[in-house]
Amino acid sequence: MLIHTLEVIGGLGLAFGVWFWWACSQPWSTFFRPVLIRGPREGNRVTLTFDDGPAEGYTEQILAILREHRVPATFFVCGKNVEEHPDLLRRIVAEGHEVGNHTYSHLFAYFKSRRRMAEEIDRTQAIIEKVSGRRPGIFRPPYGARWFGLMPTLLQRGMRMILWSATGYDWKKDTKGIVEAALRELKPGAVILLHDGHNTRPRGEVDRSRTVDALPAIIAGARKRGYAFAPLSDFLSSA
Ligand SMILES: [Zn+2]
Repeated sequence: MLIHTLEVIGGLGLAFGVWFWWACSQPWSTFFRPVLIRGPREGNRVTLTFDDGPAEGYTEQILAILREHRVPATFFVCGKNVEEHPDLLRRIVAEGHEVGNHTYSHLFAYFKSRRRMAEEIDRTQAIIEKVSGRRPGIFRPPYGARWFGLMPTLLQRGMRMILWSATGYDWKKDTKGIVEAALRELKPGAVILLHDGHNTRPRGEVDRSRTVDALPAIIAGARKRGYAFAPLSDFLSSA
């Protein structure tokens, strides 16, 4: 009987653990609301987002491709990287793209205090504003990880949480795989996640050349399927 009870408790604990992991980490989880995961289901608009920069080399190449193809995008930047490359953030803004907050140090939110998360967000807001004159109204949590206190912190500051509905898995796939994955997950209103930067790790540790190489094919493939690229701000009233 005791064994049986322990099994039931263990099973429930495991089920809760799986659910809790899902609620905190999966982009399509709405446990911590409100979040924007995907834009309007009607129409043919999709939007591109790049995380973890700005990063010397990769950000410039991505900006050049976006300019060539006349595609607007959003860059979720880390405050630490903006401090190192303020010129790149100014270029992002000058070229008409949008900017979001991705914490100062690419903070993994699990088990972090509300105060710590607020510090990371506020420090990054201040850096972005100082460098570019913009104060972002959007935030994307590193790793898509949400934790208690994060949502109220954003709401207090009038900021929206943005996740994503499509990704090229550019942290693990090769160029061809990135293109295939990004196009496979496209739907009207898709928010596409890619990376131009290496968060706050040493530059040599992360190679974004595959993302750079995949980007023209993602843009061409999406347009061939009838999608048009819109700025993320166009989606903000829809969710
Ligand atoms: Zn990130």
